Amino acid sequence: MKLYTSHYFIVLLLFAFIITPLSCNKSDSAESLQQEPQFVKGVYGNPGTLLDAGYRFDDLGLNAIFVRSISLNQSLYETAQLQNVQVFVEFPTLLGRNYVEEHPEAWPIDETGEKSPPADWFMGVCPTDPGFWEYRRTQLREILELYDVDGIFLDYVHWHAQFETPDPILPETCFCDRCMALFAEDTGLPVQGDDIPGKAAWILENADSEWRNWRSTVLNRWITGLKEIVREMRPEALLGIFYCSWFPDEYDGALYKTLGIDIEAFIEMADVLSPMLFHKMKDRPAAWVGDYTSWLGDQMNLSPENRPLIWPIVQAHDNPGVVTPDEFRQVMTEGSRPPSTGIMMFSDRALLDNPEKIDVMMKFYHEMIYN
Ligand SMILES: [Zn+2]
Repeated sequence: MKLYTSHYFIVLLLFAFIITPLSCNKSDSAESLQQEPQFVKGVYGNPGTLLDAGYRFDDLGLNAIFVRSISLNQSLYETAQLQNVQVFVEFPTLLGRNYVEEHPEAWPIDETGEKSPPADWFMGVCPTDPGFWEYRRTQLREILELYDVDGIFLDYVHWHAQFETPDPILPETCFCDRCMALFAEDTGLPVQGDDIPGKAAWILENADSEWRNWRSTVLNRWITGLKEIVREMRPEALLGIFYCSWFPDEYDGALYKTLGIDIEAFIEMADVLSPMLFHKMKDRPAAWVGDYTSWLGDQMNLSPENRPLIWPIVQAHDNPGVVTPDEFRQVMTEGSRPPSTGIMMFSDRALLDNPEKIDVMMKFYHEMIYN
């Protein structure tokens, strides 16, 4: 028995020596496959409409969908899984017309002390409102509880304003009592004035740069707070951000000054950055899509492993103006050049409204497989 055991042990050892190099190689090759992620080919919106129209995601050449959280459901999620398509969920961070109508304490206040009116279709929420913060955190937890998603993409991470137009609406907000008290507390500055207009005037005259800096810090706290929830509940999921793709010096620096977006901070916090490169809405040539993508890559002064991925979202949508199928092909091409490692378009509806755009997308995505 003892002899049998020791022989058996030697045989096991020999067998281990023989298979070890093989298993190492196998694991190495699996790792190297994992280290070469495929180019992300997505569509943004309510991609279930493409299924309803009789298409399959994989036939369309898609390997990812970016779905609005209100359009996510079990059937869509399961179909995507079956077709080997990644699911990323758009999360409407500071968008909230219904919320502010029901919770007036969360309505952004301008420098005159009045409620800032809706900026076209957009209505932002005061980002220091604790009730709204809890409301959004709960929503994010519910999504992550229900679905093992590949990522959460924060949208509308900016102070109340409208930038998806050639003529932006850029109000000064938020001067609610809570925001000004928090600003004074965080900075230690003695904000003076008898009422909201008085205090707002004091801040804008005496502490403008501290005010802008504080506002961007408030947004950054939202991002880090939501990222913590994603990391805790779905450690493998990516945190992406959709954001306004103005260059920092455009519109008198409104990207930082009014929207509160500090692009360097976004680069440090995000796993993926998705600049909203809507050329027609912003009245830009198709080449701007490539210019911005390249510029963004140049801003990343981090080591390669700490740099976020760049997956632009481009415009297929026809309002305002018309995006022709050829123009759509051009912006897809511009947005897919390095350093981009993924792309998607706004939106499923635009594709279904003009089947020629579906053909453009299919051809573009399928040809990328073989290139
Ligand atoms: Zn406020």
